[in-house]
Amino acid sequence: MEAIIINTGNELLTGETINTNASWIASKLYHIGIKTKRIIVIGDNCEELKRAIEWSMQEKPDILIITGGLGPTHDDRTVECLSKALKTPLKVDREAYKMIVEKYRDINLPLTPERVKMARIPVNAKPIKNPVGVAPGIELKIGKTTIYVLPGVPKEMMGMMEKHVIPKLELETRDIRSITKTVTIDGIPESSIAPILKKIQDTYRGLEVKSHPIGSEQKPKLKIVFRLIGKQSLKPESIVDNAIKKLWELLDEASSS
Ligand code: ATP
Ligand code: MG
Repeated sequence: MEAIIINTGNELLTGETINTNASWIASKLYHIGIKTKRIIVIGDNCEELKRAIEWSMQEKPDILIITGGLGPTHDDRTVECLSKALKTPLKVDREAYKMIVEKYRDINLPLTPERVKMARIPVNAKPIKNPVGVAPGIELKIGKTTIYVLPGVPKEMMGMMEKHVIPKLELETRDIRSITKTVTIDGIPESSIAPILKKIQDTYRGLEVKSHPIGSEQKPKLKIVFRLIGKQSLKPESIVDNAIKKLWELLDEASSS
């Protein structure tokens, strides 16, 4: 399965806020066997967001996650832009309205138009309960793509992902295993090991081999990461183990020749 993530907010583009939502979501998805194929960052600009959503839908990912801009303020326009991109009208959703009424009743605040705005979702969407804040998230399926719209506030986004999104996706990826293993190699520069890594990558289908230099020119040290997502029946873990064994064998051969 593949995902696209869109994170919104001017503060992400000015560098004021580090886009931790993107890395958190991508690693959670990877862990359950879903590959993120693109992460897009958009400012508080409806036209740009609309174009990013239209582009993402053309890519037909299994999952599209959009964060930010769900709140009550004037710059929180994600739902409106989503409705423009998908050409689906909005309605005040009964379930979402109930969630908002209950939240404000609990904290003794009146229901204003800005607060009711958070209950407006696309007609074919379902609200996701916000376990931390107020604005409900949104889930809707269009073709093969399930779209999740989540708040920008990291705690709220994480709460919805952990309580709702991940458990649901896990049901679909039950027979998929996501394997990541790392080995560290001392004394060999990246350029020397390159042909060996290419050979390994080409030998095992679907395997991703990446080297990351963590030493210096004088004292080379490499972190080699092996990643494979595959059906449990295809034993992805033993494929990764074999690839690592092969790496040591090829390094031995290279050093003795
Ligand atoms: P909500 O839908 O709950 O209103 P929002 O995106 O409108 O979410 P903001 O007021 O823009 O909320 O942001 C709330 C906080 O979350 C800010 O401190 C913001 O910097 C932070 N935040 C927003 N997006 C991200 C992100 N992608 N990664 C990390 N922090 C983020
Ligand atoms: Mg906001």
